[in-house]
Amino acid sequence: MELLGFVPPKSARVAATLDAPADASMLIGGAWVGAEGDARIASIDPGTGRVIANVPEASAGDVDRAVSAARAAFAGWAATPPAARATILWRIADLIDQHIDELAELETLDQGKPLYVARWAEIPGAAMQFRFFAGQATAIEGRTITPSITYQPAGKEVHAWTLREPVGVVAAIVPWNSPLVLTAMKLAPALAAGCTVVLKPAEDTSLTALRLGELMMEAGLPAGVLNIVTGRGATCGAALAAHHGVDKVAFTGSTATGRAILDASKGNIKRVTLELGGKSPVVILPDAALDLAIAGAANAIFFNGGQVCVAGSRAYVHADIYDRVVDGIAGYAAGMKLGHGLNPDTQMGPLVSARQAERVEGLIGGARAAGASIVTGGDRHGAAGTFIAPTVIADVSQEMEIVREEVFGPVLVVQRFTDLDDVVEAANDSVYGLAASIWTESLSSAHRLSRRIQAGTVWINCHSMYDASLPIGGVKQSGYGRDSGVAALDNYLEWKTVCAVL
Ligand code: NAD
Repeated sequence: MELLGFVPPKSARVAATLDAPADASMLIGGAWVGAEGDARIASIDPGTGRVIANVPEASAGDVDRAVSAARAAFAGWAATPPAARATILWRIADLIDQHIDELAELETLDQGKPLYVARWAEIPGAAMQFRFFAGQATAIEGRTITPSITYQPAGKEVHAWTLREPVGVVAAIVPWNSPLVLTAMKLAPALAAGCTVVLKPAEDTSLTALRLGELMMEAGLPAGVLNIVTGRGATCGAALAAHHGVDKVAFTGSTATGRAILDASKGNIKRVTLELGGKSPVVILPDAALDLAIAGAANAIFFNGGQVCVAGSRAYVHADIYDRVVDGIAGYAAGMKLGHGLNPDTQMGPLVSARQAERVEGLIGGARAAGASIVTGGDRHGAAGTFIAPTVIADVSQEMEIVREEVFGPVLVVQRFTDLDDVVEAANDSVYGLAASIWTESLSSAHRLSRRIQAGTVWINCHSMYDASLPIGGVKQSGYGRDSGVAALDNYLEWKTVCAVL
């Protein structure tokens, strides 16, 4: 099968990375430093298998240095007037915009995603996060309260109020699927609230986070307010999650790692917010606008190769339209152009790593063995690399692993339904509850179903619509806490009650 080939990056800075893979540095206390040991992690372009940089492999000792730097910077940043924090956040957004082409190419090289996803969705999305939370920094406010305390001294009055105060030092731990925008979703509200941060990007995709760190320093962020440690989850990530100098962990990643973080955070009762996995249903009713629903359902799963937490990976299609919809999605899948992310014609890139491609292949193989039918795809695409053909699987039942497990690849399972109650039950029959979409022209069905489906976000006649103003996060084992929107600021603020007898 044909794969669209590599096209050189236009940014001179990114091209230079390819000519001579750099030994990258980490950001600790305002200085760009190596790890205490010599070990490094290779950043690989999954489209070619080429090493594009080597990042330091941070140890527990490096984490300790970064946490100390964040702790030392905390009092000063928390006391910085909100408008001054806002000015810096806004400048960061401007700098992201000014470097948007470079950041998009770097993200594509490091992660594999098609350039259009990075350039038009994710990097602008990162800038939007900083702009939105620049506004929020000056809008943080407590309340005044009139308590009904009956035992107050005679002739006295009680006056009480609340203050919102930053939680302290935040460990932000993020995954590899959408590195920069997920990083921005943690950093922007944390910094707006007055917290300082130690960021740990995913080991496969640290490069745009490190470049963002440079831009944030250029924007005037004081030393130590943001620290970045690059390293492995089991060592660097685990050390951060357990560190007693960390007050809060803001995590995005798998449900399994979320559990490990909860365990590790017990020691000093850290605040923890978890944005975890999903197995999001796409429910297509018989009165849906079919062209819109077919293209929408295909995009819901194949966008970014299905490496999206909210990917619509389970389609429930009404029996009256089932054949037309499944043929339509399968046709869309079969016609997709796969190739190197930097090729402007590429619609779907490789999966991020050989490990991830093997995992997805294993889950497809398991579905075949369990008796499911592969409508289209189902195999590696091309002789080399980590490309998986967009795949549609039918003849599945709710108990199958392919219906229950998050695949995190371009794999859709389709099931037919006739009864609305049944489809609600099937959609909710999952340990996850991250997102869902409903496709219908009936206002009434859309409203009713959106209330009954257990999910942090329900989209109607669309899927994966993000905005910095819209809270995103899960119910059930998809986690708790919200990124984006005013709700996200709460993750980084404590309530303090002050009560006075006058
Ligand atoms: P992962 O859980 O393996 O890794 C995420 C991050 O955690 C990485 O930085 C990793 O190094 C670190 N980590 C791993 N083990 C750790 C430990 N013991 N202690 C501390 N940190 C540790 O996830 P992944 O494979 O990188 O990402 C895919 C997962 O992320 C999927 O499940 C996906 O659904 C989820 N995700 C969720 C959202 C959301 O908003 N809900 C968004 C994107 C991705």
